[in-house]
Amino acid sequence: MTNTPKQDGPLSGKAALVTGGSRGIGAAIARRLAREGAAVALTYHASPGSADGVVADIRAEGGTAVAIAADSADAEAVRAAVTGTVSAFGRLDVLVNNAGVGSMGPLGELTVDDFDRDVAVNVRAVWVASQEALRHLGDGGRIITIGSVFADRMPFPNGTTYALTKAAVAGFTRALARELGPRAITVNNVQPGPVATDTNPPQGPIADAMTALTPAGRYATPEELTGLIAYLAGPESAYVTGATLNIDGGFLT
Ligand code: NDP
Repeated sequence: MTNTPKQDGPLSGKAALVTGGSRGIGAAIARRLAREGAAVALTYHASPGSADGVVADIRAEGGTAVAIAADSADAEAVRAAVTGTVSAFGRLDVLVNNAGVGSMGPLGELTVDDFDRDVAVNVRAVWVASQEALRHLGDGGRIITIGSVFADRMPFPNGTTYALTKAAVAGFTRALARELGPRAITVNNVQPGPVATDTNPPQGPIADAMTALTPAGRYATPEELTGLIAYLAGPESAYVTGATLNIDGGFLT
């Protein structure tokens, strides 16, 4: 596909917010939504330089983007990121809840602080951003959350908190889809399998085991997820809501 934003793309005239868009999957989603024609806001916390780089790349391709500092563990910062997107672009059409963390370790060694941070970033921020987005999304609005196959299958020890958070957003998605159907706003949860990012590098400690458990026999690139996200963000997916969609190389088979 071309790297130039489509002047008459499916998302032309739309505005999107991608949380955690500075690196990894979120950065790939931000770039893709911009190429589909959307004006894109992306949040970052620890990586301002990377966020600026994504924005610069999108602008260099002729797209529209802004970076917003917002720690997803801070509910008011998350809310401000949503209102900041509306201030920047005058509207909000697509929310992608992507920012995520995970404290890995035996339950006996994790702390309540670990739990609180993981739940704040992976669950509470999804709840807050979606709540604030509701005040701005119109007919055809889209809420997309990046969950994980680990919500449904955790093949290793040490993932209790992460699995808990990703199962939570799947339930949240189903429940919110019920509320928003009458407003023609769809709510969906995308569960990737192993994706090559800083968090889960293909040479990392779980890589060989993950690859062996994945029929495709390899990690995905972040870019390989973005076609599904673009579909869910676009007009053709209006009848897809409340769904958890796996994009996992067959990991959950
Ligand atoms: P990366 O670690 O590569 O990137 C994480 C992104 O989230 C960064 O942009 C980071 O921004 C942002 N982020 C992290 N913490 C915060 C925070 N407190 N506030 C704001 N932004 C934050 O992760 P991935 O791209 O791999 O993961 C993206 C999503 O995909 C996560 O929800 C993850 O759980 C999920 N996922 C990933 C899989 C994988 O194999 N990689 C598999 C299944 C799901 P910054 O650096 O600026 O803080």
